[in-house]
Amino acid sequence: MPTVDLSSDTSTRPTPGMRRAIAEAEVGDEQRGLDPTTNRLQDRVAELLGQEAALLLPSGTMCNLVAVAAHTQRGDSVLAHRLSHVIRFEASGAALASGVLVDQLDGPRGQFDAAALQAALAPGSVYFARTRLVCLEQTSNLGGGSVWPLERWDEVCAVARAFGAAVHVDGARLGNAAVASGVGADRWSAGVDSVWLDFTKGLGAPLGAVLAGSAAFIAEARRYKQVFGGAMRQSGMAAAGCLWALEHHWDRLAEDHERAVRLAAGWAEVGLAAAEEPETNLVFVDPSALGMSPAGLVERLAAEGVSVVAVGGQVRAVTHLDVDDEGIEGAIAAARRVAGRR
Ligand SMILES: *Cc1c(COP(=O)(O)O)cnc(C)c1O
Repeated sequence: MPTVDLSSDTSTRPTPGMRRAIAEAEVGDEQRGLDPTTNRLQDRVAELLGQEAALLLPSGTMCNLVAVAAHTQRGDSVLAHRLSHVIRFEASGAALASGVLVDQLDGPRGQFDAAALQAALAPGSVYFARTRLVCLEQTSNLGGGSVWPLERWDEVCAVARAFGAAVHVDGARLGNAAVASGVGADRWSAGVDSVWLDFTKGLGAPLGAVLAGSAAFIAEARRYKQVFGGAMRQSGMAAAGCLWALEHHWDRLAEDHERAVRLAAGWAEVGLAAAEEPETNLVFVDPSALGMSPAGLVERLAAEGVSVVAVGGQVRAVTHLDVDDEGIEGAIAAARRVAGRR
């Protein structure tokens, strides 16, 4: 029985074309700025995001780590949604490396609004930390792959900036947001101080994330890249995969979104309803209606050849480059068998 891997969009493997591009990449010493393919990727991402400069880093986690370091001083506060990757999945990296207080905002679907942000901004005094940075995640992973409405996004950015805090965008899936909303990645990045794209999620590259911002910000980020051991050598091997992904895998993210809607509809029919209609490529379901725990459903689907994960009290399925229509129908049939046998 073939496995349908819906565990994450990081499961994607480089395609034959991408592998060829990687094999043929022109390379040099990246640490000295001499890798032509890396330089080309950085220019391309800066342009895509409407920023002055960009920097290739080994991972998205390092983009967040470097950005927080570059934007803050020890003792500052950073605001992020309580479900954000920065807070949930980075092993306290921001606190550990930058000595900041990471304070949590709340709101539905991994998003907060301008009023919540306004109330949480701390001015710096004998008692209060100074809020120096606000982090936004687009799309919100634990928010169900939700896309921030543009109006709320602009309001939140305006409130942060009026206060004097920088805005940082965790754009691990910004491509999904751009494709789903029809609002360009440059528009989402227009009112922010730093933003990054992950190439190892739905874009399907094996390695790399690119952080963008002003030339001054990127110069500072480059120092922290060195500090954290993220400077590389012939990183053109990674950059070539990322360039291939931008060229060939960006627009097709729409197919992943269609398949997520199809999967959610099929699962709803067998009693596994998603709390919200998927907006992008993530489908979250609560298996309690079937009398199962998240871990229980994960195990039973695995026995049927479908790989998903338990996250935040729910089960998450992710559509991506390596899952086709047949895979989705297989995942629906598997859930039907699991539900029928409970
Ligand atoms: C995956 C992810 C990251 C981290 O990216 P890596 O490349 O895995 O380090 C950060 N933020 C969000 C929202 C993610 O989904």
